Amino acid sequence: MEKGTKPPARFSKGLLQTEELYNYVLETSVYPREPEPLREIRDVTAAHPRAMMSTAPDAGQFMAMLLKLVDAKKTIEIGVFTGYSLLLTALAIPQDGKIIAIDMNREAYDIGLPVIKRAGVEHKIDFIESEALPVLDQLLQDSRNDGSFDFAFVDADKVNYWNYHERLMKLLKVGGIAVYDNTLWIGSVAMPEDETPEILKAGRQATLELNKLLAGDHRVQLSHVPLGDGITICRRVY
Ligand code: SAM
Ligand code: CA
Repeated sequence: MEKGTKPPARFSKGLLQTEELYNYVLETSVYPREPEPLREIRDVTAAHPRAMMSTAPDAGQFMAMLLKLVDAKKTIEIGVFTGYSLLLTALAIPQDGKIIAIDMNREAYDIGLPVIKRAGVEHKIDFIESEALPVLDQLLQDSRNDGSFDFAFVDADKVNYWNYHERLMKLLKVGGIAVYDNTLWIGSVAMPEDETPEILKAGRQATLELNKLLAGDHRVQLSHVPLGDGITICRRVY
């Protein structure tokens, strides 16, 4: 197939028309502005067999913008892995900002932690090694947490996104933002089911259901953005 006319790569991070176009965005606007510690965390993650799980740098750049726009100070992250999105959040919030970062497996976090420490932002992070749902429920038991978070990033355990959303609608302040990652599931949401690779089917189904539920949820203003693997931004409006 001729250069520039390939169909979108099903398993690459970008959903743009061509790999070349995606690389153009990365090389022109993302990598030159990427803070050095984030580049380092990409480097230390590259050797990991699941490096693909890291947040796409273009989506990360957009999230950093959102964090600044809402002046986020208190945030939650579900799904840390080696810490790309966690570090970009820590770099975007003020010195006295706080992130509750939840991941059921600490191993990958320990790979990124030296970079986070060198960046001087570890003090902003409260890492909790746990399934996310019980942590959110525990936060909700303390009424001081109601409506107290400015921002949440959800990037783990797709089948529970709606359960996370229900809890985040209480934890976020009105005007606060929840960002859900991978909401186009490598483009599979628009594939006929019988043509969907087996490995994508469960995630595709969960994503289709979530997208429908979010679109009908009038507690939030919504924007479904085709960056990275698709991110959905929900701003709590009441
Ligand atoms: N945001 C990360 C980044 O930028 O590198 C990537 C997160 S990765 C896609 C998903 C992470 O979620 C994995 O590290 C996995 O251990 C964690 N995870 C999966 N299921 C979980 C659950 N039920 N509760 C908490 N963490 C979970
Ligand atoms: Ca993701």
